[in-house]
Amino acid sequence: MDAPTTPLDVLRRTFGYDAFRGEQQEIIEHLVGGGDALVLMPTGGGKSLCYQIPALVRDGVGVVISPLIALMQDQVDALTALGVRAGFLNSSQQLEDRRTVEKAFLSGDLDLLYLAPEALAGGSSATMRLLERGRISLFAIDEAHCVAQWGHDFRPDYLALSMLHERWPDVPRIALTATATSNTRAEIATRLNLDDARQFVASFDRPNIRYRIAPKAEPRKQLLDLLRTEHQGDAGIVYCLSRASVEKTADFLVAQGVPALPYHAGLDSRTRAENQSRFLREDGLVMVATIAFGMGIDKPDVRFVAHLDLPKSVEGYYQETGRAGRDGLPSTAWLAYGLQDVVQQRKMIDSSEGDLAHRRMLAHHLDAMLALCETVDCRRSRLLAYFGQEGTANCGNCDTCLEPPESWDGTVPAQKLLSTIVRLDRERGQKFGAGQSIDILLGRQTEKTTRFNHDALSVFGIGTELSEPQWRGVVRQLLAQGLVAVEGEYGVLGLTEKSGPVLGGQRKVMMRREPERVKSRAGGTKV
Ligand code: ADP
Ligand code: ZN
Repeated sequence: MDAPTTPLDVLRRTFGYDAFRGEQQEIIEHLVGGGDALVLMPTGGGKSLCYQIPALVRDGVGVVISPLIALMQDQVDALTALGVRAGFLNSSQQLEDRRTVEKAFLSGDLDLLYLAPEALAGGSSATMRLLERGRISLFAIDEAHCVAQWGHDFRPDYLALSMLHERWPDVPRIALTATATSNTRAEIATRLNLDDARQFVASFDRPNIRYRIAPKAEPRKQLLDLLRTEHQGDAGIVYCLSRASVEKTADFLVAQGVPALPYHAGLDSRTRAENQSRFLREDGLVMVATIAFGMGIDKPDVRFVAHLDLPKSVEGYYQETGRAGRDGLPSTAWLAYGLQDVVQQRKMIDSSEGDLAHRRMLAHHLDAMLALCETVDCRRSRLLAYFGQEGTANCGNCDTCLEPPESWDGTVPAQKLLSTIVRLDRERGQKFGAGQSIDILLGRQTEKTTRFNHDALSVFGIGTELSEPQWRGVVRQLLAQGLVAVEGEYGVLGLTEKSGPVLGGQRKVMMRREPERVKSRAGGTKV
């Protein structure tokens, strides 16, 4: 066979595809011409070809830096099956295999070499010395957002990659990521010395995914309802925060006749690998997992991604929900979200290790996620705006577009809640969590309200116009708007600097109306 020459030849002959997608061709030609590139493309957009094809067209070996060590073998196998000469070097490898790959690299008998970032850390490693002796066609830095300290997936080893430009000034570099806000993008460019690189930003919209965020009541039952009414027999992923809740949820689904498998870091690696490969191979399995599951998983027909707990950031939410519908067919991203999620995550941030700046960053990520949950606007346009795509029209394919929530003036309930916090503090020198405050507002004679003599407070029973779930909604929205704070290891409520104007009547508080009962949306229109 003749050596393939143009990018299109390689696409057709080696990869067997007819045409480029989106900006692939421009990116590839830019790199083949020796230019640097920063590529932002959603998961499934086709980033790999953007460096694989230039590596095949240019002389020398393409060096790919990827944090996904567990997937290197698969990636290399897939390329080998297509006749591409690929290898990897990482710490999990036998010495003998390592030598073989090194030799192939030095003699130019490789097209692509995959490396973990730690192999280059320090700048003087054996791998660095090896690279200096070979001929390199390009550097591809995959999952480039890992270099951003303000991102959600920071890996210190990525910082060392800035030296690639100094050591190999003439070798083109391409950095790729599926998650980057404009802040992260700027940080990637600076930290990787890619300020002059051409940026290719694909649309982050996933039009076939229907976004839905529901108030959390009985999450497992709500999930089952969703599966039975809309996703019977479909493959999907259910994300839970803890290992225990993964196990419980998987057991629950199995008991209800839904074929479900657990996946979390506490399972032994054989079970994990087996569950993963069953999920990929078999039809209609539901994977119940922590976020340890999913990086690099390429299963096109995942019909739904459900979150039973609140993701810690919009980036995480986008990445996880993005695993649905890679085949372009209608799919669901469903999240159940409740007051307890907010309280729990705020507590986790408060008690997290790391300095103030780090905790602020976590809080900032959580706030953005809460704003997405509490919005009365189109979820998709909010999501895209977060990724720098402002001004998208209402999508018609998210819950707020399909059933626009009403907003209501919640100023008076907000004042009642804030007054309760003030009374407890001023008159008693006490702080309590949301539950006790709501009991006080509802005038409930519980063991705890009696014991603390809270029924003598002037605010006792002043909030009977709302139900308990409605009050929980009020607290959640005040938290999301920064009008109330959760403090300390017990998650007690406190005021913020923004509470004053609400108490003083200078600031109105608009809230999203909660459906009284969580209704199932069976038979919803399909796109
Ligand atoms: P990403 O890394 O952006 O998540 P991949 O590179 O894994 O995406 O590509 C996703 C899927 O799309 C893969 O199965 C890939 O083979 C396929 N693909 C990529 N480019 C094309 C193309 N031009 N034509 C057809 N399929 C493509
Ligand atoms: Zn919408």
